[in-house]
Amino acid sequence: MSEDPETARQIAELARDTRPLLVLDVDEVLLEFMVPFMRFLDAQGLVFLAKSFRLTGNIVEQKTQIPLEQAAVSDLLDGFFHAQREWQTPAMGAADAVAGLAGNAEIVMLTAMPHRHRDIRRMHLDALGFPYPLLTTEAAKGPALRQLRGETRRPVAFVDDIPHNLVSVRDAVADAHLFNLMSYREMRRLLPPMPEGIVIANDWAEAAPKIAAALGL
Ligand SMILES: [Mg+2]
Repeated sequence: MSEDPETARQIAELARDTRPLLVLDVDEVLLEFMVPFMRFLDAQGLVFLAKSFRLTGNIVEQKTQIPLEQAAVSDLLDGFFHAQREWQTPAMGAADAVAGLAGNAEIVMLTAMPHRHRDIRRMHLDALGFPYPLLTTEAAKGPALRQLRGETRRPVAFVDDIPHNLVSVRDAVADAHLFNLMSYREMRRLLPPMPEGIVIANDWAEAAPKIAAALGL
């Protein structure tokens, strides 16, 4: 079971599918996040410095270069996700690539985002050509994947930009096929070396055939 009771409830609402399972993160995998977020910051006199792979400490006031505290960064993210339909665009090739995989696999989108933003994200993903079930979670992704897979041994693949999400899934579903995809490539240089067993894909053109092969589609 997901450690997040609301995520567990959302999973329980899904039909029990026995096809191969493909679980997709949203930000940086299906939707652009960093590029629109940087535009959002700029509109408020702020800038992201890209000195490390984290937001807090790297968002500064343009005039003073003073970094924002954690609470202010959380407020900014909340504002961004509330207004995501005005800012976020689809990742290149994502909609077509996922549609190509969807015929023979169960596709589920799993976003680490406060549950209160689920309805807005749902509307935005529908508008951009991602009609698959959307789950929100405020806890680790691994246990949610295990619950999604269910009692069967069906093949599972998971795509995310953030290493600790991939590791969480590896720890919970040992035979999951793991893919690291990051739409904003400039961030990749800030990532630590990818843990063992995680396949790096530079874009959807590269990711789609690897996922299809992993799931036996
Ligand atoms: Mg992400």
